[in-house]
Amino acid sequence: MKELKLETRVEVYAVGELDNIYRQLYEAAFEASKKAYAPYSKFHVGAAVLLENGEILSGNNQENAAYPSGLCAERTTLFYAGARYPDAAVQILAIAAMKDGERVDLITPCGACRQVMSETEQRYNHTLQFQSDFRIIARFFVEKRKRISFRVRRPCCRFVSVSLI
Ligand SMILES: [Zn+2]
Repeated sequence: MKELKLETRVEVYAVGELDNIYRQLYEAAFEASKKAYAPYSKFHVGAAVLLENGEILSGNNQENAAYPSGLCAERTTLFYAGARYPDAAVQILAIAAMKDGERVDLITPCGACRQVMSETEQRYNHTLQFQSDFRIIARFFVEKRKRISFRVRRPCCRFVSVSLI
């Protein structure tokens, strides 16, 4: 038997403590979600990234009848950033979603997107912050393929950190 320890830490932040860049990224992701091509799922997702050179790029999900030929908003945007600015590290990735005309809360990336996020961190040797729908700011990273950390910060006052050691 192997024992694993799971640690959880919660910190509290006031709304005013958030950097304005998170608000800008949310707006960019939300605007991008309106242009998604999602005729099958009707789940419109937008993503936006902040690069170290200050550029903000956005993308959205692009579906295809021949599933899985389409691509999620996160990967569309990260690959676009890598193609356009291959030497600029991605610092923050934000996503926002709409379903049936309503904003969706608490969306998280799929496994394939998390893998691309992880490799993006390795590629640029830079921790990628992840923000979902303005209410959560989270950070994922994999260290030496053994440790997985997950941090969540909610503008409305919460910060959660979970580490699997
Ligand atoms: Zn995905």
